[in-house]
Amino acid sequence: MNYQTILEDIQEEIKPLLGQGKVANYIPALGAIPISKFAMAIKTIDNKEYSVGDAEESFSIQSISKIFSFALALKELRAELWERVGKEPSGTAFNSLIQLEFEHGIPRNPFINAGALVMTDILTSTYNDPKQTLLDLVRELADNPKVNFDEVVAKSENEWGDRNRALAYFIKDFGNINNAVDEVLDLYFHQCSLSMSCLDLVRAFSCLANAGKTVGANKVIISERQTKRINSLLMTCGTYDAVGDFAYRVGLPGKSGVGGGIVAIMPGHFVISVWSPGLNESGNSLVGTKALELFTTKTKTSIF
Ligand code: GLU
Repeated sequence: MNYQTILEDIQEEIKPLLGQGKVANYIPALGAIPISKFAMAIKTIDNKEYSVGDAEESFSIQSISKIFSFALALKELRAELWERVGKEPSGTAFNSLIQLEFEHGIPRNPFINAGALVMTDILTSTYNDPKQTLLDLVRELADNPKVNFDEVVAKSENEWGDRNRALAYFIKDFGNINNAVDEVLDLYFHQCSLSMSCLDLVRAFSCLANAGKTVGANKVIISERQTKRINSLLMTCGTYDAVGDFAYRVGLPGKSGVGGGIVAIMPGHFVISVWSPGLNESGNSLVGTKALELFTTKTKTSIF
């Protein structure tokens, strides 16, 4: 399969769509990103990489970071984790408070904000310096010591973070957050601010396509079983309240972020990432979703 040619064809085909959608503007640092940015990268499990566009340019990965914190929490707590978070799609907005009341502070899944806050609480309880532990993991996985938090974005997330603050206090009241809310939020806002490129992302998540082992170094990051579980949850909960549409069109487990990035996994074959900051009404990258749909259609590869 000539992935490079396929990516170049997709880059041409999506050109008329660039500029559509809306760049996230809940914080100024995100609102300033040019909507016309586009990048795509693939890493195969036989350690080949292909890319087009601004694939080495770092952007705010936002909710894609929830995979890292979930993977770490799963490693630490295993079965016990499922007493604190569910495994079902939420059917509500990623930052909704409504379900929490009915479900007694147990978030539906680790990829909505409420669930991610519980994951960051677990990491806060587990590590002396959870921000550094998370950053070290991401740098190791991406094989890039320059990956970092974007302090401007993290500060802005904090300034405009009242809804996340409300979620955290609400969950704490139900007894499902054990640490000080400010501490949990500091880690959460920093993880959202992680700045990475499409190439960093495919390298960092190659273990999800390779039964838990990094591609190249073959280092075991998570077990085969945990890999299956993470990918399953990405399929059912990874792309906001549009998982059905994403599954229908793309056919791969994936995670999106409001920075316009999406990562998708074809277990046993490759990881693919795309970045285009214009979002559709569900909060997923509009061009990014289309590009992934074109990719799985052209290559006839999907988990189905
Ligand atoms: N920092 C964002 C928030 O917590 C993350 C949004 C996202 O990418 O889904 O609201």
